[in-house]
Order: sequence, then structure tokens, then C-alpha cells
Amino acid sequence: MTAIPFPIFDGHNDVLLALYERSRGEGVTFFDHSDQGHLDLPRARAGGFAGGFFAVYLPADPTEPAPERPERAGDGPFEMPLTPLTLAYAQRATMAMAAILFRIEAASGGQLKVVRTTGELEACLRNGVLAAILHFEGAEAIDPDLNALEVFYQAGLRSLGPVWSRPNAFGHGVPFAFPRSPDAGPGLTDAGRRLVRACNRLGIMIDLSHLNEQGFWDVAKLSDAPLVATHSNVHTICPSSRNLTDRQLDAIRESDGMVGLNFAVGFLREDGKNEADTPIDLMARHIDCLVERIGVDRVGFGSDFDGATMPLELGDASGLPRLIDALRARGYDDATLRKIAHENWVRVLRKTWRV
Ligand code: ZN
Repeated sequence: MTAIPFPIFDGHNDVLLALYERSRGEGVTFFDHSDQGHLDLPRARAGGFAGGFFAVYLPADPTEPAPERPERAGDGPFEMPLTPLTLAYAQRATMAMAAILFRIEAASGGQLKVVRTTGELEACLRNGVLAAILHFEGAEAIDPDLNALEVFYQAGLRSLGPVWSRPNAFGHGVPFAFPRSPDAGPGLTDAGRRLVRACNRLGIMIDLSHLNEQGFWDVAKLSDAPLVATHSNVHTICPSSRNLTDRQLDAIRESDGMVGLNFAVGFLREDGKNEADTPIDLMARHIDCLVERIGVDRVGFGSDFDGATMPLELGDASGLPRLIDALRARGYDDATLRKIAHENWVRVLRKTWRV
């Protein structure tokens, strides 16, 4: 494994969820090396992970009854049931998770910064400060009048997926299903359309990754920003409802947006299985396909660290150099790898944030 000569900026991680749920045990912080999950400061440093979108993902309300979870019969098709969240619960959990990020920043002694402009992001990448973008994966914590959007923006929110896969006041997410087209159900509501316009006005990036196809086209029609899917893959390789069809990829290319490669094995594999024994070469195949369809200037990474099953060969954030090596072995030169590693993200964010 060779050292990476450039920083890697990543489109999606769920480390705030892991810390919120203390899935690594009481007292374990972002600063401690852990063998649980995929991302902490020591493993980020070891792998060249220089920053990324830190998602506030809201788990199901533990006080609400869980929906029946159908057993997946062997290798058969599946679909996951999802229950909407209340605004009160969503705001409480969002505050808690955003606070975790701000506490990490405060305790980091300058090692991590929550960035709000591309100037700040570039300075972090230059100076080896871990750059964190506050991202909401689903807008459940935002009221339909969008008052909370203004407040969260002032607090540092710079990226927002109108929906995670569950339905909410703004739209209908794409259900987790395999094999399945992302064309499932209606798209944005009127509140969802207002949300898109408000994000454009404020300069909040809109993440398309968990929208169904109708919602994707609704945003494509309305938004004046580049179209971005932070953590999604190629549907023609892995026909998961969470992946992007050729038509969607073409729209992303035409808008000069981008796609972050999701490392989750269930969105990489042709059989859709949640099986860690998945080669890094398959990740590279998705990258090849994306590059061919939308161009080297519109492809990046969107790992889903701490939110999904990673290929064993990659392991965790410290294994990123193995992915870079695999791409290099397929003929990607350093200039191209630098684009994929962070330059494309910086360009798209500059066009979206306008600062
Ligand atoms: Zn996600």
C-alpha cells in the first residue's frame, strides 16, 4: 500500500450516528482509535481521509413501535419497511447529533473544523485540518414553514437531503429494495419544492441520494445548482433502488454535478447481497462506469463509513490507500485521482455555495 500524495474528501459518513448511539461503547470518542465501525481521527489520518460530509441521520424513534420487518428469504428480493418520524423527535435527535459534531470541533484543538465556505474547506485540505460539512440526511427536523432551515443554516448546515428513504413532509424517499428501479412513488410535495428553492437561495447543497426517481426529476427541474448524489452507485451494475439509472447519470452530467461512490457492499454487488467478501475491484468498476458516463470531473467518493457494510479488503478509513492503488493499477494517473479524491467536491461545492 503506497502513501497517498493528496487528501481524500468524502461525500458521506455516519460517524455522528455511531457516537450518538455509542455503538463503540461508553467513553469512546472520535479521537480514540477503535476497531469498531470505520472512522475516527486516528484511522482518518492513517488513510488520508481529510474530511467529508458528516451526516445527521435520524434512527427510528425508539419510543415508537417498530414496523414488522419481513425476513429476507435467502437471496430473494426484499424491501425494508420505514415509518415516518415526528418533528419533535427529529429536532431533539438532530440537536443531539449536531452538538456532538460541534463538541468534537471544540475539543479537537484545531484538528477538526466544521466548514461553511469553500475557502475554509480548501484551507483545511491544505493544512491537514479534518474538514467536516454538516449534512442532514432527511429534512424531518425542518418544519414545513422552513423556520428551522434558516436557524440550522446559521448554525452551519451546508448540505441537505430532502428525504432519507422514509417519507416525510417534503417528499417520498426511495425504498431499499433489490432488484428494483428507483422509480417508486410520487416525488416532492409543495413543501419539498419550497425547500429546494430555499436551499438554492441560502446556498445549501441538495443531496439526491435517497430521493426516488420522481423526486430526483422534481429537483432537477427546479434547482439552479449542480445535481449531486453524495453516496450512490451505478444501477446497470447493481440494480438496487438506491442506485442511479443512466438517465439520472446523464442529468447529473448535464448539470455539471457529481456522484460520490458508495462503498456499501449492497449497493456495489451485482447480486445486492450484504456480503463483506466483496473485492475492491468492484468499487473500481463502478468508478470506471461513472467516469465513462459522466466524466472524470464529476466523480468522487461517498463512503458511507459507519453506516453500512464495507468490503473486507478495504476495511475502514485506514484502508483508503488500497482503493487508490486499485484505481492506479487500472490506469488512473495522479491528476485524475486528485480530482476524484477531492477536487471535484471542491468545484461542485463552490458552484453550489457560491462562497
Ligand atoms: Zn444514506
